[in-house]
Amino acid sequence: MRSRSRSASKTPQNKENQTHKARIVFFETEDWEKQFIQSAALRKYEARVYGERLTEETARLAEDADIVSVFIYSNVDKGVLDKLPNLGMIATRSTGYDHIDMAECRRRGIVVSNVPYYGENTVAEHAFGLILSLSRKIYKAYFRTTRLDFSLENLTGFDLKGKSMGVVGAGRIGLHVVRIAKGFGMDVLVYDVRQEPLLAEVLGFTYVPFEELLRRSDVISLHVPLVKTTHHMINRSNIHLIKRGALLINTARGAVVETEALISALDQGTIAGAGLDVFEGEESVKEETALLGQQLPREKMREILLGYALLHRDNVVITPHIAFYSEEALLRIVETTQQNILGFLQGNPVNVVATSAM
Ligand code: NAD
Repeated sequence: MRSRSRSASKTPQNKENQTHKARIVFFETEDWEKQFIQSAALRKYEARVYGERLTEETARLAEDADIVSVFIYSNVDKGVLDKLPNLGMIATRSTGYDHIDMAECRRRGIVVSNVPYYGENTVAEHAFGLILSLSRKIYKAYFRTTRLDFSLENLTGFDLKGKSMGVVGAGRIGLHVVRIAKGFGMDVLVYDVRQEPLLAEVLGFTYVPFEELLRRSDVISLHVPLVKTTHHMINRSNIHLIKRGALLINTARGAVVETEALISALDQGTIAGAGLDVFEGEESVKEETALLGQQLPREKMREILLGYALLHRDNVVITPHIAFYSEEALLRIVETTQQNILGFLQGNPVNVVATSAM
């Protein structure tokens, strides 16, 4: 959705004509981003960069800001916005914007821009990293060799060529997975609520019903968004349909897979291995301190314990939600953010996800 702010005092044109240089404050930046931001196209403005998240406390660093830029860990709610009286734009360096109070931004005429595309190939490549770690037992072999054990016992892998790849959700990322799988010589099955027959013909894949995909795929890779209909899409009542010995790869969102069902399928050997960049409760498991001295809700605690039950298995490879985290993808994020900011300042906002009603 694209529209422009019509709020009298905050139009982009006014920003360029103002007597002061536009003040742009970046939060949640890493060191390389700081250098990039300060050395690039925004030099003629007053750009300040901080590593901290934007909170009610750190908002004092941006109390005169015309524009703030944040990542997903800054919760930009009414309390924060109240501390930023001059704000005309928020440039989030992410695709999602559920960390920003959009209704409040709309009410105040604050433009919000996001980064709609940055890493569909990046996530797809990571999915294959996880697949190969398991299909060729690279992960298991690595741990052995670090202990100076060079035996081949139980390290027989399997070829991807000629196997069936099941892609659940063939959107931007899923379609890249399809292309890479075709490069490996795999037969590709796709389940998606939206079908594009022409695309299937051009890329050489077949749409099948979900249960058929579970039954026929040697590798299943998930690329659906987390919405009501995909929550626990793989669960205890359908996980037994998966072809015995298949691999399950999840780089989408943890809650697409019911962890308890996954653990039991791994225990029973239905699933031979799982590659997980995401899993339920990953945030809490990452921050082990969450377990210390805090009263956690029962359901959260259960998620954390189940998450721990997935660790330390030699047929489960876990990465800490880094599928998007390549140099190129990060650069694309910063470059698009710069374009978003410049567009706003020059009176031509781009990648706008919400403003006041036109
Ligand atoms: P996209 O919107 O381009 O594609 C999603 C596809 O899923 C669409 O084709 C859609 O029709 C399909 N879909 C939606 N609901 C479905 C359902 N109930 N059943 C079957 N198919 C359904 O999204 P994308 O850019 O390809 O990203 C996919 C997901 O990957 C994101 O929503 C996000 O959760 C995840 N992601 C993870 C990382 C990471 O670092 N691990 C990074 C980026 C995105």
